[in-house]
Amino acid sequence: MNMIIMGPPGCGKGTQANGIVQNLGVVHISTGDMLRAAVKSGSELGQRVEAVMAAGELVSDDLMMDIIKERLRQRDANDGWLLDGFPRTVEQAEGLMALLDEIDQSVGAVVSLEVPNEEIVQRLSGRLTCRECGFVTSRQSVGADDPNRCPQCGAEALYQRDDDREETVRNRLEVYQTKTYPAAATLGDRYRLERIDGVGEPAEIAQRIRGVLE
Ligand SMILES: [Zn+2]
Repeated sequence: MNMIIMGPPGCGKGTQANGIVQNLGVVHISTGDMLRAAVKSGSELGQRVEAVMAAGELVSDDLMMDIIKERLRQRDANDGWLLDGFPRTVEQAEGLMALLDEIDQSVGAVVSLEVPNEEIVQRLSGRLTCRECGFVTSRQSVGADDPNRCPQCGAEALYQRDDDREETVRNRLEVYQTKTYPAAATLGDRYRLERIDGVGEPAEIAQRIRGVLE
């Protein structure tokens, strides 16, 4: 079965995507991973992607479409996939549907994780990342005594990523609401759309998703 998972930044989509991939044995196709790989490579394309992401903006449709097209053509995508991070606009949703028709594939379910904006802002703007080991924690869990010390590796290296600053989070949510949320409805005109309440413990949310996929 081919599936698409959608949800605003900070909704726990990555965790749920991993769970679905493990349960159903499908290939995880994450545009985020593919974009991060491009940034890490330091290529000219990667530098363009990096500038766009740092500003909380969206990568262009043409660029995303090229990346996804190449991935769906690979052999391991024949036995079912979970697309994560695409489409992000109505135009991309329409482009994806046309692409799938072209390669004679369909989508069994679109899972849309839904979490109120204020909950997302609270989750993300308290998040801290370790510069040394990449560990992610929160302001509440490190406490006030030693606010920069990483609980994982012990380095004085916790910081707030630009992506997690409140202003950037609100900008990303605004982009999600106006551009991506309508794309779920576009897909829903054609495929089965399941709107899932994304508030609660990850295990409860996984249960809700399993309930609709089975
Ligand atoms: Zn660390």
